[in-house]
Amino acid sequence: MAYKREVYEYVEGVYRDRQEQNEADLEKRRQTAYATCPRLKEIEEKLADMGSRIASCVAHGMSAIKKLHADIESLRAEKKKLLLENGFADDYLDLQYKCPVCFDTGMNGGRLCRKCAEGELKKAAFALSSLGKTLSGQTFDNFDLSYYADEGEISPRTVMKHNLDYCINYCNNFTHGDSLLMVGGTGLGKTHLSSAIAHRLIEQGIEVCYVTAPELFTRLEKEKFGRMDGEENEEFFASEVLIIDDLGSEMTSSFTVSALFSVVNSRMNSGKSTIINTNLSQADLEETYNDKIVSRILGTYKVLFFSGSDVRLKKKMKQG
Ligand SMILES: [Zn+2]
Repeated sequence: MAYKREVYEYVEGVYRDRQEQNEADLEKRRQTAYATCPRLKEIEEKLADMGSRIASCVAHGMSAIKKLHADIESLRAEKKKLLLENGFADDYLDLQYKCPVCFDTGMNGGRLCRKCAEGELKKAAFALSSLGKTLSGQTFDNFDLSYYADEGEISPRTVMKHNLDYCINYCNNFTHGDSLLMVGGTGLGKTHLSSAIAHRLIEQGIEVCYVTAPELFTRLEKEKFGRMDGEENEEFFASEVLIIDDLGSEMTSSFTVSALFSVVNSRMNSGKSTIINTNLSQADLEETYNDKIVSRILGTYKVLFFSGSDVRLKKKMKQG
């Protein structure tokens, strides 16, 4: 998939840093090895010197070149032997690479390294997304069911276990066009599960746009009045998955009503997935937004109901 230019630039920086780190690590190992066995320093200096003399040897004919090669080979053999005798690995004084395919350049045969570059791009795309910047700590792994009460006929914990499993399964078997509506009061984990989904999908190489409802509407409104380039808002319509966090927390107006309609409707028609979470009840949704879009959402999105009492409050109390 294609990423924004800033993602590629970020990854170039990652490889540059890695190469510098490899050089710095090697320099440290050199100091250690030379302190243990000073002869190693002499050998490496000689080898460097011989390397630079190869060109001038060419002028002196084959025998000179052969002699130089033989000297280099014998010094290399001595170096290896000394390293092993002193308890080092025989490649201790070579550069060590994280990726044996591209030698930490990110490129292999003129193309992105399949072994490592794709993963780096995914990580970078996540780190640079607004979600990565603000909510990166919220994953499925740290979604703690123990905060939900385990009492009553259908306990909040049972409900939330079902929601958690549903979301994990949603990611594992991601199908384009499948959409979710998470409904429930404040502090019940809707944002946590939404960002956990984003996290997981991005890891799978799926393009996710995460936005809070106020930001979504503000940006669309700016564009409408020519105060913002529409290209930046293209992601609301074009991304494979759009997550709208906290629908209903924006200042509602006729603009927000029609903007929600246009985003949701356009995404449905082009078979793209949308995840919306909201504190509003079904009745509130119908009252606040366009009837037609609310009934389309309720008719085609999977609806997850969240229950329990404010988890954030409990977490705070537990932390003292
Ligand atoms: Zn690589």
